[in-house]
Amino acid sequence: MSTIPNASAPAAGSIVPKAEEKLSATQGGPQAGNGNTPQINWDSEIQLVSSLAKLQELERQIHVLRQSVPDGVLEPLVPISNSKASPLKAVAESPSLLREELNQTARNKLSNIENFQSTWRGPELQPIWARVEARIKESNGQLLQPTGIWEMDYDVLLQELLKAEKTKEEESQREEEDVERAKAQSSEGEWETVVERFVQRNIPGVRVVKGQKAFSLGVALAKAGMILLVEGMKDPDVSGVSEWQVSAKTPPGRSPTKLENSIMDCLNTRSRKWDLAFLLDMISSYADIKSTPCAKCTRLTNNGAQLPTIRRVQPIQPPQEEQRTFAFDALHSDCA
Ligand SMILES: [Zn+2]
Repeated sequence: MSTIPNASAPAAGSIVPKAEEKLSATQGGPQAGNGNTPQINWDSEIQLVSSLAKLQELERQIHVLRQSVPDGVLEPLVPISNSKASPLKAVAESPSLLREELNQTARNKLSNIENFQSTWRGPELQPIWARVEARIKESNGQLLQPTGIWEMDYDVLLQELLKAEKTKEEESQREEEDVERAKAQSSEGEWETVVERFVQRNIPGVRVVKGQKAFSLGVALAKAGMILLVEGMKDPDVSGVSEWQVSAKTPPGRSPTKLENSIMDCLNTRSRKWDLAFLLDMISSYADIKSTPCAKCTRLTNNGAQLPTIRRVQPIQPPQEEQRTFAFDALHSDCA
């Protein structure tokens, strides 16, 4: 069988390692440590657990593959040996059909083994083999897991760790936002500084005018043919504006178009409602709405002839300097 790998990958080749041999078998990881191994942070708990999860999954697959011979390849014969009356007729119309079934089953089982081998030798596993090999060398050939059995379900552990990390990230983002919000709301005039900085950026197609009421402004998007009204809501708890609301200004006698309504829906469900800089950048992202393709399907209009009216903020980076800007991806409602 030409598909049996060379001797340097014993477990993948024999596919029947005993549990006790499992970790020693990993010494034979092919091409391990050939210098092309990507740099990996082995001090990271998540990295270690995810690697163990991959090894554990390989072992699970080995147990499945062990059933390939003889039971797996003989599957088409099972109904025959189980049936008592007129056996052959009940299952296959002719010996040649039965033979074809046996051939096909054998081919399927073989391709399962080949898939397994390419995972085993694939780029994802290479650095893990290199690490295992190095650790066994360091411990003078001692196996890394002396009991020879998996003591944990590393896949489950990995999910828990990822979840915990995400929660931690969200928490620190929330804390950061709290600090920013407190600063933005700390004085009555802070919002005017934000508007000035925005106007100085001279974004093409976007014009800001002061509103008639206090804490209000209008934003004209010339190419989109839209005027948006932005109004600050006051809250007795803070000196500045607690939240910014946005609405479409339409000429008398005309109600908002479907496009305007979709844009308003997206603007009014945004995050950081206290953040005028965020809102102005988000509004600006609509300046070229009639020529901005969808970030997902890359088309301008979808099958319903709709423009990408959804805006999704790109990952928010901590502010490098005083003036922070936000970038948005355009998406169709059915691509979001
Ligand atoms: Zn799309």
